[in-house]
Amino acid sequence: MYAKIIVEIGVKNVDKTFTYIIPNDLQNKVKVGCRVTVEFGKQILEGFILEILNTLDNIDYELKEIKELIDEEPILNKEMLELGNIISNKTLSSKIKCYQVMLPKALKASHKTKINKKMDKYILLDDTNSLEEYLKKCKYPKQKEILTNLIKNKELKITKLDSTIKTLLKHNLIKIEEREYYRYNYNTNSKDKKVILNNDQQSVINKVTNSFGTPKTFLLYGVTGAGKTEVYMNIIENAIKEEKTAIMLVPEISLTPQIVERFSLRFNNNIAILHSGLSDTERYDEYRKITSGQVKIVVGARSAIFAPLTNIGIIIIDEEHTSTYKQDNDPKYHARDIAILRSQYHKCPVLLGSATPSLESMARAANKVYELLTLTKRAGAGHLPKVSIVDMKEELKKGNFIISEPLDTLIKEKLAKQEQIILLLNRRGYSSMLTCNKCGETAKCPNCDISLTYHKNSNMLRCHYCGYATLKYNKCKACGSTDLKDYGLGTERLEEELKKKYSARIIRMDMDTTSKKGAHQKIIDSFANHEYDILVGTQMIAKGLDFPLVTLVGVINADASLNFPDFRSSERTFQLLSQVSGRAGRADKPGEVIIQTYNNNHYSIVLASKHDYLSFYLEEMKIRKQLNYSPYYYIILVSISTKDYELSFKAAKKVGDYLRNNLSPTTYVLGPTMANIFRINNIYKQQCIIKYKQDNKLKQTLYNLNEHYKTNNKVNVEIDINPNRL
Ligand code: ADP
Ligand code: ZN
Ligand code: ZN
Repeated sequence: MYAKIIVEIGVKNVDKTFTYIIPNDLQNKVKVGCRVTVEFGKQILEGFILEILNTLDNIDYELKEIKELIDEEPILNKEMLELGNIISNKTLSSKIKCYQVMLPKALKASHKTKINKKMDKYILLDDTNSLEEYLKKCKYPKQKEILTNLIKNKELKITKLDSTIKTLLKHNLIKIEEREYYRYNYNTNSKDKKVILNNDQQSVINKVTNSFGTPKTFLLYGVTGAGKTEVYMNIIENAIKEEKTAIMLVPEISLTPQIVERFSLRFNNNIAILHSGLSDTERYDEYRKITSGQVKIVVGARSAIFAPLTNIGIIIIDEEHTSTYKQDNDPKYHARDIAILRSQYHKCPVLLGSATPSLESMARAANKVYELLTLTKRAGAGHLPKVSIVDMKEELKKGNFIISEPLDTLIKEKLAKQEQIILLLNRRGYSSMLTCNKCGETAKCPNCDISLTYHKNSNMLRCHYCGYATLKYNKCKACGSTDLKDYGLGTERLEEELKKKYSARIIRMDMDTTSKKGAHQKIIDSFANHEYDILVGTQMIAKGLDFPLVTLVGVINADASLNFPDFRSSERTFQLLSQVSGRAGRADKPGEVIIQTYNNNHYSIVLASKHDYLSFYLEEMKIRKQLNYSPYYYIILVSISTKDYELSFKAAKKVGDYLRNNLSPTTYVLGPTMANIFRINNIYKQQCIIKYKQDNKLKQTLYNLNEHYKTNNKVNVEIDINPNRL
């Protein structure tokens, strides 16, 4: 017998299976989807079995035997193998990468160290008939102690087999039981609060539950605090009642630990949690809870969409507009697309939820591809907050560059009332630029076309793109002047300013303060316990958090995301502002929001302040239509990168010409142009943008382009279908 095996070789997307002989002793054991080790050239590699054959036609080379079978049971089941092929086809990624992305690190085919299950040993009473008699006669206090303990507590965890235990075992008085120990612990220190659902919530739950068994996609548009999470949990309860399983995706669990808590309170041990904050061993343990059938619910970030649950009853994607649902490296899949594929396989509905649905999803709902469900009011006592826009051009005239007068007044008011405040500033570090006042020279990264950010705590200038760091210098590198000024504002400086201005307890949450494991959770917990008055942070504070005492949210600079040159920047700004506003006034105390901006008439800011998603949607759709962008046109980003400056122009032109010559005339090919940041880490990047509605030459052309550059060592061509960013 023979097996076709796929292995990961090199970094390029080479897709090929290799045939090996199945040795006699493995013939009854091998299954499609199991991992094996094989000799490949001079190396020993791991791979997956994709096919088992009884005979081979023409062999013109010498076959080798499989060395070792790693898994007794397939780790890629039939659904996953099919799914991997579809993803490979749709994203132009190699099959092996598509299989690997579905697995936790411990189960990927690789030749790294293995992770094993961790077992705990327990002792329990065995032969209870002779127990009483034995205890009477027994002269050893240690034995007595253990036996009486077992009578009382039924079982004891042991760490080693000492002589006492060995003796008791020999007399059949006790037995040993091994149980798997799961290394991931999530804390649950509050109580599950059951709420009485309102009619709107009940109606959404009914509609989705009535579609169990049908592959159908719903879009739930519900304002922040409308009680969507409550709806999700009820739908999942219904699926469990029907003996089905459920996947619940959230943008990033480490940022939204409260959701894990709410789910584990409601569903106890019936959930597995998968996200990037787990260690490899924890992840492996959580994963096996799923494959062993021990849990019916999986809560996790993007890759949890591949959770190998069987009999899925519902797939839910919360905050469906979030860009992290799209993977930026190969395979460049979107969790929403995978959810829909899996829903077809399992014949189950998909529920996409958001307070600010992506334009693409809303457009599909408008076209009745998805069924639209709505929750327009907040569920509990809370009301949507009152939002005011502050024109920073006017404030600047008064000398207020960081905190405007209205924001200052409200901060003081809330502090006096001992309520909490969240301030959002979408830039970390102290200042964004160090500039010479004499000659205008700005401190730039030597490897990238970007200015360095000043970090005051560490007294370093850092590049946020390549990681370059250097000590802050006091003399201009160009003219030697010491008259250097830091322009722009980061979270570190904001924190410092606040400390000067107010006597308040302030905590900062950004990439710099959360690099250690568990740091997010610590900050969130301590803020929730009211150990701090003000939480300062980047967009990582905007999502999902629910602090009842927060009655003021301030957006320090709403322009940061607006000025980003991307067709989605208005949409992102609207989403960010709506989301962060949603953190205010979630309980009985009314909330207020201040948005500081230099673009006070911009529609995405004005409409976010009015909580008017639908008007924003209509306005933005008009612009997308005029400019031929998504969702009117599909967008593909082709990027061409190389270390060679001259070559970057030549290669980009070649790619651009090839696309223009080989795509339909109705398709637009823009570029090549230099990427937003032309040079990052000394790699030059150019790009072409393809906009199309329908193009039957597209697939083949992209395929050919991809194949052609796979073997090119100098130029890297990447194709991103429906990219997050341009
Ligand atoms: P969303 O996910 O839409 O932002 P949540 O599900 O987090 O909203 O609900 C917001 C708050 O309202 C939570 O504190 C939740 O417990 C509460 N809540 C949800 N549904 C109800 C209800 N029917 N009655 C009272 N409170 C509710
Ligand atoms: Zn200078
Ligand atoms: Zn750099």
